[in-house]
Parts: sequence; structure tokens; C-alpha cells
Amino acid sequence: MNALNTLTAHDLLARMQQGECTSESAVRAILDAIGRVDPVLHSYLTVNAEASLTQAREADAARRGGDDRPLLGVPIAVKDVLNVRGQPCTCASKILKGYVAPYDATAIARLRAAGAVFVGRTNMDEFAMGSTTENSAYGVTRNPWATDHVPGGSSGGSAVAVAADEAIAALGTDTGGSIRQPAAFCGCVGLKPSYGRVSRYGLTAYASSLDQIGPMTKDVRDAALLLQAMAGYDPLDSSSLPAPVPDFAAALKTDLKGVTLGLPREYFVGGLDPDVERRLQEAVAVCRQLGATTVEVSLPRTRQAIATYYIIAAAEASANLARFDGVRYGFRAAGSEDPLSLYKRTRAQGFGDEVKRRIILGTYVLSSGYYDAFYLRAQKVRALIRNDFGAAFEKCDAILAPVSPTPAYRIGEKSADPLQMYLGDIFTVPVNLAGICGLSVPCGFTAANLPVGLQIVGPALGEEAILRVGHAYENATEWHRRRPGSESSARQE
Ligand code: GLN
Repeated sequence: MNALNTLTAHDLLARMQQGECTSESAVRAILDAIGRVDPVLHSYLTVNAEASLTQAREADAARRGGDDRPLLGVPIAVKDVLNVRGQPCTCASKILKGYVAPYDATAIARLRAAGAVFVGRTNMDEFAMGSTTENSAYGVTRNPWATDHVPGGSSGGSAVAVAADEAIAALGTDTGGSIRQPAAFCGCVGLKPSYGRVSRYGLTAYASSLDQIGPMTKDVRDAALLLQAMAGYDPLDSSSLPAPVPDFAAALKTDLKGVTLGLPREYFVGGLDPDVERRLQEAVAVCRQLGATTVEVSLPRTRQAIATYYIIAAAEASANLARFDGVRYGFRAAGSEDPLSLYKRTRAQGFGDEVKRRIILGTYVLSSGYYDAFYLRAQKVRALIRNDFGAAFEKCDAILAPVSPTPAYRIGEKSADPLQMYLGDIFTVPVNLAGICGLSVPCGFTAANLPVGLQIVGPALGEEAILRVGHAYENATEWHRRRPGSESSARQE
């Protein structure tokens, strides 16, 4: 029998329903795994051992009383950017040291209502700005497949917690790839929902027009399960969509008959790591064998996507992060005589280099004289990028794409060169700019045994289509079942 920490949420739920195990035993298995491997991997910033055991025992008692809520007793890890009532929420920044959230984010409240148990808070790039989790103020997180490699980011801690069986499932956030790219680097599943599908209330904002919360899981069925619990209109977030929430599990079929998949011409033009390219071609072939038809599509503004994203994201970040001034939240620098020096000292000492870089860049592109040339123009290009996807989805149901041009790289390899780092986001940021949805599923390994991810992109509110493709694909393959080596793995057959 598999150790409980290695199970998917749906397998764990089935066992709990049959009385074969309890939530408490699952939480204990998770806590044991964290004790074994997290001293090296550092996926968690805080672990709520006692509180999660209490929650688990309550879930077990409720189940004995006939309660059968959809996530009852399932241990979940939460990226440290989401507010969970009574827990610290640092966003991996010094500036939020000591801050304790007074309320639940809507996504958290909905998972809580569905019965989930919150085991701990995961590491991330500071304020979700980054692609490696190296920008955390609280230390690096290591990739369980090669511990001298980055786990990706910004939701690196959540990806590692899931991949190394230190959580059953986790939440991440994705502004420009932060769920999909770490999922690809660590070999788990990551879903960025369409903009507005999941409420952002209680998510510490990085770039409000791009941010989405989504699940990071061991398989696609779990991604559907978690999305089901979180999705839907929320009066507390006026950008959440009033659209009905479909039954996502019902969309999970095992064939792709009648499905047309688009292959963007601009995405397969070289520059891809050869192993990544090979795994993608193999994945496309598997989808064809499952009955899908493929068609070439064009996304002509791909070249402009990075510049567009880094102007808009930085502009929004510079406005959103103005609230961290040493007065209202967390850290306050000592030794200031007046409010202005308090703000300056607090922000100078509290923010890390990458956050400062974005605030400066964002303030610049919004400043008078530059606004039209940068911010306004970026918004126009954003509309063209959205139109490109609109035209592509007239020819196909979903698009197949890489997640990242390369597999995980070494810690420190790109951190000195922000531009190189930004260029790695080429296949993920267009999805956020267009407000559509994207799913990353494991699709094999490089020669060096590093995971590769396949990205399945769908139109706005097209989660059913991408979940269907992802599920059929993983059902026909075994990649998502692979676990990192014994050094960090708790998997026992
Ligand atoms: N790597 C991108 C950035 O640094 C995306 C981050 C994210 O999605 N939060 O902005």
C-alpha cells in the first residue's frame, strides 16, 4: 500500500470514505515526510502541525457523523501569498514579517467549507515576482529531482511540496506562469484558471489584471476537484465572473475524439531545448493517437509578449505595493523621525532587489511623458495578443505548447541576469495577458532526468476543454506517476 502522503486527493478521499484510513493519519504521514525531506528542499515557510492535526481530527469526527463534503480531511499546502485567518502571510518578503492575516481569502474560505485541512505555507519568490523561488527573503527552495536546481517559481514551494509528497495538493498563483512553470520544473500538474474564474479576494495583489489562484496537484483529476471547490463568482471581487461553474469532473474523458488541437507556428521555431522539443513532439503524437486532430495556428504577437507583460505587470505592481509603507502592515524600520523617512527606510530595508526593480520600472512606465510610449502602448499590444488567441480558437478547441523553453536550471545560473530570466516566460505570459486558461501536465524527462511539462491552453472559461485533454493525455502516459529519487522521496510501493 502506498504511504498516505503519496496519494492523490481523490484516492485519499476514496480510502477515507471506505474507512481504510483517516485524515489524521494522512496529516501525520505528510508531517513525517516534511520532517524527512524539507530540511533539504525547504518548500515550506511554516508548518501548522498542531492546528492541522486538530482540523484533521475534526474532519474524521465529521465523517463518522455522515459528513461527505468534497475535500473533507484532505491536507493542502498554501502559497504564502494567500490570506488564511490567524496565519502569518509573508509573501516571502521581509516587509510582511510579523503580519498575521485577519481573514480568509475567498479561495481559502471555499476550500475550508469543502473540508480541506491547511498543513502549512509554502515558499515563493517575494510577492510572486520571479521564476525560480530564489527571490524569497527566507531562503531558496530546491528541486527534488536535482537539489542543485531551481524548482521554478514563483510558486516553487507549492510545486516541490506536491512533487516530493510533502502535501496531497497545493495552491499557487499565476500572474505570468507561476503555477505552470514550477509545475513543469518539478513534474506535477498546475492549472491557471481563466481570469475571473477564481476570486482574487484575499490574494495579496502583484498585478491585479493578471493574477489568478489555481491548484497544483499530482494529477488532472485533482486539479478539477480543487478548481470545483474554489471557482465561481464572489461579490468581494468584482473582477470574478458571474458565469456558471460547470461540473469539471464530468469533462474528464479518456479519449480525444472530435477534439482539434492547435499547434502555434511561432512556438516551434527553434530556441527550444532539444529534449523539451522532443518530449513535446511525442506528446503531440500521443494526443493524435487518442483521436485528436491537429492544426497549425498562428500567434503572431508572441515576440512582443515579454515586453508587454513586464511593462503591465511592473506598472500594476508599483501601484499595488505602495500600501507597504511601515504603517499598516508587518515590518517597520527603526530610527525614523518623520513619516517620509519611515516610508523610505521601511521600503528600502523591507523589499528585496527584484521587487525594487519592478517598482522602479513600473513607476517609470506610468510616469507622465512615458505613459503613452510604454504603458498605453503595452495595453494596445495586449489587446492584439488577446485577438490572436481569439482567432486561433476559431480553428481549435485547445492549443498545445511548451511551458518553458528549458527544463529546470541550476540555482544561481540566471539570477544575475534578469533579462535572461524574463525571457524564460515566453510561453506562459501570453495566456495571462489574454485572460485565458492554461494547464501544465508532466510529459516526460530530459536526458538528465529533469521533468518536462506540456502546456494545454484553452479559451476564456474553457477549463473543461483543457482538463479533458490533460486527463486523456495523462491517462495514456505514466509521467505524472514518477517520483523524485530516494533522497527526497517518501513513496513506497
Ligand atoms: N516569472 C513571472 C514574473 O516574474 C511570472 C510570475 C508570476 O506568475 N507570479 O513576473
